[in-house]
Amino acid sequence: MAAEAVPEEVLLNNDLIKELVEVAKDTALLHGLLLRTKESPYSSEVVSYIPFTLFPTPVPRDLFQQALQVQTLFNQLVDKISRDSCFLEEALAGPIKVDMFTARLFQIYRTVQQEACAQSIALCLNRSDYMLDLRPDRNATLKQIEINTIAASFGGLASRTPDVHRHILKVAGLPEHSKRVLDNNPAAGLASALAKAWELYGSVKAVVMFLVEDIQRNIFDHRCIENELWKRNIPVIRRRFSDVFKTGLLDQDKKLFVDGKEVAIVYFRHGYMPDNYTEQSWEVRLMMERSQAVKCPDIGTQLAGTKKVQQVLAQPGVLERFFPNEPEAVARIRATFAGLYTMDIGEEGDRTVAMALANPEKFVLKPQREGGGNNIYGEEICRVLQEKSERVAYILMDKVNPQPSRNYLLRHGSPVKLATCLSELGIFGAHIRQGTDVVWNQCAGHLLRTKSAEYADGGVAVGVAVLDNPFLV
Ligand code: ADP
Ligand code: MG
Repeated sequence: MAAEAVPEEVLLNNDLIKELVEVAKDTALLHGLLLRTKESPYSSEVVSYIPFTLFPTPVPRDLFQQALQVQTLFNQLVDKISRDSCFLEEALAGPIKVDMFTARLFQIYRTVQQEACAQSIALCLNRSDYMLDLRPDRNATLKQIEINTIAASFGGLASRTPDVHRHILKVAGLPEHSKRVLDNNPAAGLASALAKAWELYGSVKAVVMFLVEDIQRNIFDHRCIENELWKRNIPVIRRRFSDVFKTGLLDQDKKLFVDGKEVAIVYFRHGYMPDNYTEQSWEVRLMMERSQAVKCPDIGTQLAGTKKVQQVLAQPGVLERFFPNEPEAVARIRATFAGLYTMDIGEEGDRTVAMALANPEKFVLKPQREGGGNNIYGEEICRVLQEKSERVAYILMDKVNPQPSRNYLLRHGSPVKLATCLSELGIFGAHIRQGTDVVWNQCAGHLLRTKSAEYADGGVAVGVAVLDNPFLV
């Protein structure tokens, strides 16, 4: 991304920055940019602001537009993959031999594939994440980091950050800059798709169930979407796996009931990491997958978001399988792919290993995990590849090199200092299919997250990245 959004004399004016930081924190609280604290994660008695940048970050307009425009194609692609059991079986054959979490998900996928499908409505709310890759010989290009097909977060709070940055820029004496912060409302975009799927389910009393974790520090992000649903007179309940285990059941038509309430949609904000599951949770997951409830996402869609699938998609001819006779769609998707390499056992995988060992600083080694903080970089790649025999659990990816920019990161309990930062742009997508008909395919808004360049990895939830806004240049 280009340089900073604000002039040097603002960025380096310590007295002004001090004042702006105070204004920023209060404004964030006023707009509901909230996070439960580490000290009291179970309650909202004491809360803080969600970490965010003091200023928005420049993003080239053409690359931002490119990311928006390719989103409906990614929505379609994920949907097509989720239904293609042969493709998933083949793509995940390696990882499911060594990665028990992916294997377990896949086992449920297989089980429900063999049964008559209880629900023909498929709802996917995803977020495709990008970094802007800068190379010495050319302009920055948009490169996909990953696509999140389950529990993609911050659509709620990202709807409230633009007003905060606009206000800060005005107080900083930059009213014209303030006008350039884009509107954004993924909370409404995601809720509209949930509402449409609820309507298609067709039972006014049925609820949308948010499947949530035990510790819900990010509850305010959920609440933004939840309250958008209540505005539309759609009832919402929030339950954990353990709650559903106690009171959940399927009736003879496979309708899902929890606490006696019929569930129209299970919206997963949890369930993407191995330690999210106990044996009971796995039972509950299977029951929900078998049910008539619309799953957001269903298990096939979750598997479509694995790193291994991402790598297989980058191989020659694979996108063409999903978009036959649509070379333009294929080209637009492919243009966003960074180099992705198989770690399968065999000649091709051996070549990948040799390449990584020769230049580890050029790559990222990724396991089949979500949630941040799992990737391996630099010399650590060599160690892992030399020590671990289970290389098929990983994929290798070109390291993307975004342009750093300077900003102040505001985080509860941390001193504010000027930091060199890297940013990641996320685009929210919403897709609904009923049987073979696509009834919804939209881009639902965006998210910019920024982290200090000293960290190679990690999202907002793990305490590394903070919320930001694009400032188009
Ligand atoms: P997760 O599912 O854990 O979020 P990601 O693929 O998004 O996995 O990786 C986590 C973080 O690691 C990203 O937010 C980004 O900061 C960094 N990262 C991932 N892939 C790359 C890459 N190819 N180049 C540079 N940084 C990367
Ligand atoms: Mg990520």
